[in-house]
Amino acid sequence: LRNTPAMDAFWMPFTANRQFKAAPRLLVSAEGMHYTADDGRSVLDGTAGLWCVNAGHGRRGIAAAVERQLATLDFAPTFQMGHPIAFEFAERLAEIAPGGPDKRLDRVFFTNSGSESVDTALKIALAYQRAIGQGTRTRLIGRERGYHGVGFGGLSVGGIVSNRRVFPQLNGTDHLRHTHDPARNAFVKGQPEHGAELAEDLERLVALHGAETIAACIVEPVAGSTGVLIPPKGYLERLREICTKHGILLIFDEVISGFGRLGAPFATDFFGVVPDLVTSAKGLTNGTVPMGAVFASRAVHDGLMHGPDGIELFHGYTYSGHPVACAAGIATLDIYRDEGLLTRVTDIADDWAAAMHDLRGRKNVIDIRTIGLIAGIELAPRPDAPGKRAYEVFVDCFERGLLTRVTGDIIALSPPLIIERGQIGEIVDVLGAAIDRAA
Ligand code: PMP
Repeated sequence: LRNTPAMDAFWMPFTANRQFKAAPRLLVSAEGMHYTADDGRSVLDGTAGLWCVNAGHGRRGIAAAVERQLATLDFAPTFQMGHPIAFEFAERLAEIAPGGPDKRLDRVFFTNSGSESVDTALKIALAYQRAIGQGTRTRLIGRERGYHGVGFGGLSVGGIVSNRRVFPQLNGTDHLRHTHDPARNAFVKGQPEHGAELAEDLERLVALHGAETIAACIVEPVAGSTGVLIPPKGYLERLREICTKHGILLIFDEVISGFGRLGAPFATDFFGVVPDLVTSAKGLTNGTVPMGAVFASRAVHDGLMHGPDGIELFHGYTYSGHPVACAAGIATLDIYRDEGLLTRVTDIADDWAAAMHDLRGRKNVIDIRTIGLIAGIELAPRPDAPGKRAYEVFVDCFERGLLTRVTGDIIALSPPLIIERGQIGEIVDVLGAAIDRAA
């Protein structure tokens, strides 16, 4: 494969991959907690692929379900038609939907990715406000350093300025100040205390723009892709209160935090704060067949579908509720249920945190953040080359059999939820040694 025309033909996503073809790292198969590289080496999956393979790789139940579905009904539209497996999957999801028994967001809209889930939730929020006679509410609020995918909506509410610089943005988006304050977070195990105070920033934006202009506020309960930023205590609770007070819909982007990553089915349940909409993808099908889902409260669903100013929402995809993706999703939920994976992390989170915090004091480590089965290890940037140190650690780890993810000078970890305690130790050993070696 190396240095073949095939590698030229593939336009790799993300320009950050520019250097990749000079020294490619290729994964050719996967089983359980491990990938196999093209040179035959076993690589411990410290990132569940891209935060998605929550039940581990090579699950036969999913493969069998996909094969059966392909042979039974390979495709069917959900435009003026339906098919039972989409209803069945939605019903199964509704049973475990975020929000707990009394407030479950049990209306499920299917998409094909996290980005599509985000853009869908934003469109639902705008259409809902309009349908209930709040048509002046057209503004969307995100958060600095939030990541919500690459659609124009997600990009606009996303908080990474460099990602959106060359593209036009939705009118009137604005961003909360972000939660990551190294001076206050450094080496705090769990959540620091200043959440309510930080969430008051939403009141600043309400005062600035007027509540009657704001449709929705979207945040990741725990920001993943931008370096594992954990909300300080009381933050999400206070956001909820402010949104409720001003008629603003609250959206949690749970593309990463959903499906057991924190030790509860969703971060919504983990934090005990219920938004109006939740976006998901990734773990929904264990990273197999691409799929996403938006969970909505009945109030939002009913308001939009039957509100006094009823409007048409032309939104959906050829592949919304794709039968093969639904089959993969149902088989995934079976595994999560049978193996108790949606709550398993509660048993190992303390060991995970303790092991990661053992890296404290290593060369150049300036912060360690953990929550559930997620960790962010932040290194001091090299003044001459920001990001280079963490990238070196990532390459070193991969060569010694551990897959990590880097974002700037932060190394992120999020292994499959089936991880054994010994493998947690293995991650810390390989990572610690790589950090020691990095210049
Ligand atoms: N939202 C969040 C919180 C994410 O982490 C991601 C992907 N990392 C997305 C949205 C976008 O998902 P996708 O790449 O499937 O479009």
